[in-house]
Amino acid sequence: MYVRKSRLLTPGPTPLLPSAIRAMAAADLHHRTADFREVYSGVIRDLHYFMGTENGIALFASSGSGAMEAAVSNLFSPGDKAVACVAGKFGERWLQIGEAFGLELVVLTRPYGESVGPEELERALRDHPDAQGVFVQATETSTGISHDVEAMGGIVSSTDAVLVVDAITGLGSSEIRIDDWGLDVVIGGSQKALMVPPGLAYCAVSEKAMGRAERARNPRFYFNLKKHIDAGPRGDSPWTPASSLILGMAEVLRYVREIGRERLIRNAQLLARATRDAARAVGLELFARDAIPAGAVTAILAPDGIDSGEIVRGFRDRFDAIIANGQGSMKGRIFRLAHLGYFDFHDLFAAVAELELILRLMDRDVELGSGVRAVQAVYLEACAEDNGGAR
Ligand SMILES: *Cc1c(COP(=O)(O)O)cnc(C)c1O
Repeated sequence: MYVRKSRLLTPGPTPLLPSAIRAMAAADLHHRTADFREVYSGVIRDLHYFMGTENGIALFASSGSGAMEAAVSNLFSPGDKAVACVAGKFGERWLQIGEAFGLELVVLTRPYGESVGPEELERALRDHPDAQGVFVQATETSTGISHDVEAMGGIVSSTDAVLVVDAITGLGSSEIRIDDWGLDVVIGGSQKALMVPPGLAYCAVSEKAMGRAERARNPRFYFNLKKHIDAGPRGDSPWTPASSLILGMAEVLRYVREIGRERLIRNAQLLARATRDAARAVGLELFARDAIPAGAVTAILAPDGIDSGEIVRGFRDRFDAIIANGQGSMKGRIFRLAHLGYFDFHDLFAAVAELELILRLMDRDVELGSGVRAVQAVYLEACAEDNGGAR
């Protein structure tokens, strides 16, 4: 009650890896040196492993939106037609960027909590055979849903269009086979599954997309994909890199190699399943009912008569834990528990037990321990799946 540790339980920024925090402190260096070039090229190499792709990778000093802008400015010309799949706040960002760069967008919208189906995309591409691109979120962080980017990749790869996937919270929390599924641009950010602070964006770009970059006429300078992709493997960046964050990311990628990228994803998926089970067990309703739930974050509806902000405040005031409210029109209706990156079962046990207490202290009828038991059940199941091992 009187001693409280601060905890970050949001889907970006996420908890930092301790060894990365220490590595970031060693930033009294120069970036055009052999030592730093080795770190930088190692980060590019390890990003290939983390993302599971052979495509060229660009790494920018910016938040995730910088790489979203790069995809639009590098691959398209003013007046180009493209399809935008919009099912939440980050989908809406595609509209804003597309508009800023003069694209003519065909918008496929679904209400918050739902997802755009592959069949809708297929129909749109049939109706608009001149579409040059498709924009989508692998995981829509604002609502906790996933899009079926595997099916979408299959549909788009047989056309001239390029598929641009914002996987900023999808990477590291769900299986995304970039090369097998034909995903042309896949975008990530440092402050999500990669356990370092905000400030780095990265994206993998297919040859099909690079061919388009040569012809596209939209203006670009800082976010030039080709310049970044060419320089990275040599340990160089066109402009001064965010050295401190690069040192942290090198450490995180070493950690991911150690545990294995599949295990990082499985970790998020298990925590996601346990979070959903726990929410239902304490009598709450999940926000994403008919869509594929995200591995990164779970959106939960506040009970009738309670503003979700009160639950968010309960976590903050009682436990010094920061969880996410809904965004935009969902503010007050949902709250979101994250589980991507450096999250473990310990975090989830605490969060669920605290949620039970917060609801009880609001005079809600909650059986204490019901949510915690649901998390324990998933943990035991996972142990059994891992050959009955004790770990
Ligand atoms: C966090 C996030 C972004 C990027 O936001 P920035 O504030 O620019 O880092 C974009 N898309 C999704 C789905 C995200 O979760």
